[in-house]
Order: sequence, then C-alpha cells, then structure tokens
Amino acid sequence: MSTWEDNVRRVVPYVPGEQPKIKDIIKLNTNENPYPPSPMVINKQLELKNLRLYPDDKALVLVDAIADYHKVDSAQVFVGVGSDDVLAMAFMTFFNSDKKILFPDITYSFYDVWAELLGIPYRQPALDENFRLVKEDYYVENGGIVFPNPNAPTSIAEPVSFVEDIVKHNKDVVVIVDEAYVDFGGESALSLIDKYDNLLVVRTYSKSRSMAGIRIGYAIGSKKLIKYMNDVKFSYNSYTMNMPSQILGTESLKDEAYFRETVNKVIDTREWFSKEISELGFKCPKSSTNFIFMTHDKIPAKEIFEKARDNKIYVRYFNKPRIDNYLRVTIGTREEMEIFLEFLKSLEA
Ligand code: PMP
Repeated sequence: MSTWEDNVRRVVPYVPGEQPKIKDIIKLNTNENPYPPSPMVINKQLELKNLRLYPDDKALVLVDAIADYHKVDSAQVFVGVGSDDVLAMAFMTFFNSDKKILFPDITYSFYDVWAELLGIPYRQPALDENFRLVKEDYYVENGGIVFPNPNAPTSIAEPVSFVEDIVKHNKDVVVIVDEAYVDFGGESALSLIDKYDNLLVVRTYSKSRSMAGIRIGYAIGSKKLIKYMNDVKFSYNSYTMNMPSQILGTESLKDEAYFRETVNKVIDTREWFSKEISELGFKCPKSSTNFIFMTHDKIPAKEIFEKARDNKIYVRYFNKPRIDNYLRVTIGTREEMEIFLEFLKSLEA
C-alpha cells in the first residue's frame, strides 16, 4: 500500500554544534568569535517601523559596501543568509552535471549533505597523513570542486599558489573556495578572481566579524558567475536578506580598526594556547583559523570532550574515521582559554 511517505524527499541533515541553553558555560564548540561586534554595529539605530516594508531584494547597500571593501565591482558580489546559504545556492547553480564533484574526505561536513540533498554525485579524495590537501587529486575530470581554505576542522591553510594550481587545472568547471576562516591567517584567493572567471570565493560575517547571529555570507567572483547565482536565487526566494542584516552588515565594514584588533586578539590567544598545550603533550597542526585541532597520544579525545562538558566547557568532537581522536576547540577569550587549560592540566595522562 502506498502512502504519502513514499514521496517524501528523505535526507540525513547536517548536525550543527550544540547551542546549550544553560548559563555560565565556556562555549568553544561552534567557532564563534568571543568578542562582540563593532560598537558601530551595536550602536546603530534601526528604524524598525520600516519593517512593515519588504527589504531591498537586491540588498544593494550591503552589496555595494562589500564591493567597496574588497575593491571589486558590485556585479561581482552575491549575498546570502550566512555562507551556508551562499554555498548551498552555489552548489545548486554550478554543480549540475553527471560528473562527480570533488571535496576532501575531511572537511566541512555540510558539503556532502548539500550534495545528497541536491542529488549531486561526489567523491572525496583523502587528505594526506598530515591532513594536507593533495592538489594532484583534483587534476582529474570532475563536475566541480569545493574546499575550505583554511580547511576545517583541520585549521590548515594552503598558499594562494596552491589554490591557483587547482583552478588552472580545472578551467572547465566551477571551483569554490570557502574562506570562512581566512582572516585569521590564510591567504585569500580573491587576488585570482579577475584572472579566472570560474573561481568563486565565499566569505562569512560569522567568525572574524563577530556576527554569527545576523546570518550574512557572501561570494565574490566573475560577473558571469554572480549573474547565474542571482538567477537561481531569484527563482527560489527574492527576500533572503532582511533589513536589519543589510544595515548592520554595512556598518560592520566601516570599522576596520575594531575588526583588526579583535582578529589579532584571537590570533594572539591561539598562539599562546597552542604553545601551552604542546607542553602538556597535545599536538595540533599549525592553525590559520580561530580554532585548533588538537590530539593527545594517551588521553582519548572523546573522554576529554565528555569531561570538559561535565565541567561546563563545550568543545567539538567528531566521531568520524581518521579524526575520532581529535578535538576542535574554538579560541575564546584569554580568560576562557586559561580555564580550559587548567582543566586540561587536571587530566591524567
Ligand atoms: N564554511 C565553513 C568551513 C564553516 O566552518 C562554516 C561554519 N559552520 C560555514 C562555512 C558556514 O558559516 P555561516 O553559515 O555561519 O556563514
């Protein structure tokens, strides 16, 4: 007997890090920035009576501000509701062939979820034993390529020359570089977009701009790429960017000094913390992000994850092949990391 359930699109959803509702926790599990957004964002007066109106469907104020900031044309900028929205839209727009798209075996775990949802065939070349991408693995026929640089959850960045080599070998497909963490030490591929019309660079406000709650992401690429993305977006939902996001996102870009200051504070804390934990026998690859990927030979990661949680310290543990003895730890304030360090010191090896 057939039922309506036979026709349901069945998917296994992405599971984001926990957002616990309890108070007084140290939250190092979802790569948020420990500092608030710029005072210019916080103090901006919003004319909330205007909420009766639809927002600008093209989000032009924000698009123009992002274009100015990166010194590109406004027609080279696409904005969305967090980079998750931008990436999903890019998958839908560009990964439309029968050939397999490629992304690493260890990477942002939303990529395979979108591929499954959209019925895009894919293959995941393995990172090498040091968790580095192997560029030659991407010099084969494929339906498109996506990878984060720096990669997550490994925290490792590759130089822009490495990205260019991959793009050069793949001029007949779209290559998406997810630069969610680039401001914390990576080298951006934005310098390449005028040279390669098939390269899309994706950014977010959620990490370096301390605005995960506002949900702003964007993509920069050739005018052609952006036009195709807008065609799909406007066939799906015209009003994705709400009015407060457009205004506050624009405000954030005006305060470069605050942006640099908070990013540098995170970097300084990361460097100090990485050194401290190495003295406790932990290892982690050199991070170019706002998190570190740490492991210990003798203390199982799962055990640390659970004990930390009992102590109201939340970090991220992935029960997945190759990385099930690692923790991904977001860099919090210096004070938060000092507490986490004391906790690590209390563990018995
Ligand atoms: N890309 C990577 C590599 C990420 O880690 C994240 C954060 N989960 C995102 C994209 C999405 O971030 P957002 O939607 O908040 O912009």
